[in-house]
Amino acid sequence: FCYMSGWASQIICLLLHLPRPSLEMAAPKPITRLISHVILDLDGTLLNTDCIVSQVLKPFIVKNGKKWDSKKAHKFVGKTPYEAAAVVLEDYGLPYSTEEFLSLINPMFSEQWGNIKALPGANRLIKHLKSSRVPAALASNSSRSNIESKISCQQGWKEYFSAIVGADEVESGKPSPDIFLEAAKRMNADPSNCLVIEDSVPGVTAGKAAGMHVIAVPSVPKRTDEFSSADEIINSLLDLRPEKWGLPPFNDWIEGTLPIDPWFIGGPVIKGFGRGSKVLGIPTANLAAENFSDILSDHTSGVYFGWAGLSKRGIYKMVMSIGWNPYFDNTEKTIEPWLLHGFDEDFYGEELRLVIVGYIRPEANFPSLESLIERIHEDGRIAENALDLPEYAKYKESPYLRNPLQEGAATGGNEAEQEFI
Ligand SMILES: [Mg+2]
Repeated sequence: FCYMSGWASQIICLLLHLPRPSLEMAAPKPITRLISHVILDLDGTLLNTDCIVSQVLKPFIVKNGKKWDSKKAHKFVGKTPYEAAAVVLEDYGLPYSTEEFLSLINPMFSEQWGNIKALPGANRLIKHLKSSRVPAALASNSSRSNIESKISCQQGWKEYFSAIVGADEVESGKPSPDIFLEAAKRMNADPSNCLVIEDSVPGVTAGKAAGMHVIAVPSVPKRTDEFSSADEIINSLLDLRPEKWGLPPFNDWIEGTLPIDPWFIGGPVIKGFGRGSKVLGIPTANLAAENFSDILSDHTSGVYFGWAGLSKRGIYKMVMSIGWNPYFDNTEKTIEPWLLHGFDEDFYGEELRLVIVGYIRPEANFPSLESLIERIHEDGRIAENALDLPEYAKYKESPYLRNPLQEGAATGGNEAEQEFI
């Protein structure tokens, strides 16, 4: 349970006094000089490339008579294509040379570049740096031509970067500092004035070796301990606070909330974990997250809010936690919406539609059950107040919340029994 980081697992761990994984995010060390330039990694930092890697590799490996293991996927993160290929060949015992394998697999990847989505907060960050006139470079272990192909699918990215450096343009890829030093050189920047944002351990190592400040945004959950050399660790780009680094702050937070592009999710309310959150005053109406793994892979864990439509009752304010599920080795997420309304009865099996409109905070560790409960209630108050703002209130009228579920379109969750956490 304790490696499940949604509200339910946090509550259970605190109830049972079980050890919890460290979710502490390292506070930035004091800055000695102001940051003037930003250097961004691409795959896993700005782009959700991991999704594509699994989509391409899984059928290839299965076709070669081997069983795909999603637990191994994290081993490719931050590697050059050649290194990643060698890892795949060794792990799965495939009968190819690295060169043969790359020549087979590269065209399959190229076909997918256009399908890679920007990670949450990536477009926001690029627009912010652009409007703040902060020069930025892209520094990736990918080849220059692959970088260009990938970013040409993202509107406005290519024009923005002052420099783009691929692994094939320097002597050694990350964890060597070469790529970052070359990026700084092309921007005429002193390495000590550069802030690197990276999702992988080799990338963080490379940034520090280059004498730069490094923020880690780990793309593999629950491995923050491997990133201790980073100057700061954040959960996602949504949590980036540029002012900590002497850069202009984002101005889009409203009353403790960050507006996001709305996303929609729905299904029957299902049985949860049976641990009496009702008693704690936080009755969540869970959805079967496994039915939404594609949508959830586009969103980072944390606390969000929005509107909830119950097919037989009406529309309510809602705050929710997205966490990682240990039953699936942290490759699947949990989704726990708390409808901010006192219901007289349970409603398991009833169709629940959600529109998620804003973000409140990343996951955090709490010293006691009381402090966790207090924080969840504060999340509820923040959501309650924010949803009255026109920015968020308008989504209450979203047709998706009101449309009755099409007969036969129900996904999973046949349990008609009501359950709270
Ligand atoms: Mg990366």
